Amino acid sequence: MTSVEVRAHTALHVLKGAVSKVLGAKWTAGVWVRENRGRLTVQLERKPSPEELAKVEEEANRKIEENAPVEELEMSRAEAEDRWGDAIYDLFPLPASITTLKILHIPGWNVNACKAAHTGTTGEIGSLRIVKTRYRPSKKLLELSFEIPQNVGGA
Ligand SMILES: [Zn+2]
Repeated sequence: MTSVEVRAHTALHVLKGAVSKVLGAKWTAGVWVRENRGRLTVQLERKPSPEELAKVEEEANRKIEENAPVEELEMSRAEAEDRWGDAIYDLFPLPASITTLKILHIPGWNVNACKAAHTGTTGEIGSLRIVKTRYRPSKKLLELSFEIPQNVGGA
């Protein structure tokens, strides 16, 4: 029942966790999803090596294989900031008028204020393949384009 775009969106969070772990990237500058494809843009000080990018893909797939729980929480903005600080935010700040947040939480991996729909576990993504990367030195942005399977076995 889970749509392919919900799986691809969830994959953005898994990929972000991997990029943070392997490259130390903190800030998401943009996300895009269409059907089984997605693109994550993060701020990064330098161009990563092919080996590092391979490691990012490997770590993301390891997290998918782990079938980790994907939690959706709702709480006050103050409580969320107490727990996770600015890790819940992306590069562009949320308006101060927003006082209640939906939080996406993959324990030990990724946390982000996010209103979109997600799968219940990382395993539902199936797998993730990085198909293209682009580093823009002038803006210090790394774009990671990926795809996931249209269907997961048994679905
Ligand atoms: Zn999300």
